[in-house]
Amino acid sequence: MKPLNLENLSISSLKESYKNKGLIPQEVINFLIARVESLEPRLKAFAHFDKEKILKELKENNIPSGKALCGIPVTVKDNICVKDELTTCSSKILEGFVPPYNATVVERLKSAGAVLFGKTNMDEFAFGSSCETSYFGPTRNPWDIARVPGGSSGGSAAAVAASETVAALGTDTGGSIRQPASFCGVVGLKPTYGRVSRYGLIAFASSLDQIGPITQNVTDAALLMNVIAGHDEMDSTSVDLPVPDYTKALTKDIKGMKLGVPREYFTEGITPEVNEAIKKSINLFKDLGASVKEISLPHTDYAVSVYYIVATAEASSNLARFDGVQYGHRTKSLEQGEGDSLVKMYSRTRAEGFGAEAKRRIILGTYVLSSGYYDAYYLRALKVRALIKKDFEEAFKECDCIVTPTSPTVAFKLGEKLENPLSMYLSDIYTISANLAGIPAMSIPCGLTQENLPVGLQILAKPFDEESIFRLAYTYEQNNNW
Ligand code: GLN
Repeated sequence: MKPLNLENLSISSLKESYKNKGLIPQEVINFLIARVESLEPRLKAFAHFDKEKILKELKENNIPSGKALCGIPVTVKDNICVKDELTTCSSKILEGFVPPYNATVVERLKSAGAVLFGKTNMDEFAFGSSCETSYFGPTRNPWDIARVPGGSSGGSAAAVAASETVAALGTDTGGSIRQPASFCGVVGLKPTYGRVSRYGLIAFASSLDQIGPITQNVTDAALLMNVIAGHDEMDSTSVDLPVPDYTKALTKDIKGMKLGVPREYFTEGITPEVNEAIKKSINLFKDLGASVKEISLPHTDYAVSVYYIVATAEASSNLARFDGVQYGHRTKSLEQGEGDSLVKMYSRTRAEGFGAEAKRRIILGTYVLSSGYYDAYYLRALKVRALIKKDFEEAFKECDCIVTPTSPTVAFKLGEKLENPLSMYLSDIYTISANLAGIPAMSIPCGLTQENLPVGLQILAKPFDEESIFRLAYTYEQNNNW
């Protein structure tokens, strides 16, 4: 019998089955397409899924042999450009947009032999923490379809958790890889800013955005990072440093590692079950030979405010290009005789094309950048951002990694926070500092609540020290007993 079932749908076990057990990519693709067709009416993890195209590509394009991801299906978030495929940021304003080029990460996946397997649903332009702001409607959490999968890469996390795909790419501006990974019980890594090229990623906030892997386990995240990381001339913010083989860091040995636990991350907002799961994980790290000490990140309280100034400022500027001229949706109202000015065309296009959260962010971002408020809000936020970065620099003098919860709660119910943007924004309280500081951070599953919902543990490290994260995460994954 061919060895294909839900248990061995990870990158590492598929590689093994291709090599030694006679499995072929076509069988895996057929199996996954059947799962997508049966699960999508309930989950809606995909924004675009063109079965015929996937099958055609598989047939026509020879998969290069001997490469790292030969015949491995990988799904890409809908804000990453894939040549000749719809790429819409789950927004009406990019309706019908088909990029003429591939993002660098997509080029790299393809040259490593991966089979591109659809585009995942997301909060519109990655604005959100629940996947509910998508123009296509919300994605649901495979653990409980009454709940959100997290956001904004909720589609990627849900698709991996439900084994609709093998692995996915997400993007993380303030937590959008880690928080959905935590809500869906999968592994998500936001690499160091500059580690992975952003060329071909439709920008939300250019100084915060990073692309990263969402996978079933830590080994798969290392395998994907080996392919996507590294310098790219097309992205001036990508850093020219050698890329280590991340699988070498998967050592199951954390003896002597120094871990810091920031006291500011264990305040009222955290639910008792999340708190308990994190404390249990910290005890396991101690049992495995790591030393653990309490540390302080004193400017943590300001992170949410700073983030929502910096991120909205950059978003308002990045989204100015969507005006109905070059991409996607253009209003029809002018053709129907409702005026003929260019300004009307712009404003109607944007009024029709953007959803409520995108409009809120454009307005907020424009406000904090406007003359008279720039100094009071934007400039001040940049100064506090520097202090947040400094907090981490100080902390990493004392420890190799910092461990925290990924999110104060487990997955919440659909609709629960949609009408209250501020409470939605607070669900990123533990993730956004890593983006403001530019440091790498991963979420790994660390327990289940009574209601059978996954809890995520976040591990942070110094810039470009993803290897320490992999070492700690892998050791945890191999030894946990929840
Ligand atoms: N949830 C955060 C926000 O709404 C982060 C989003 C992201 O990382 N793309 O901005």
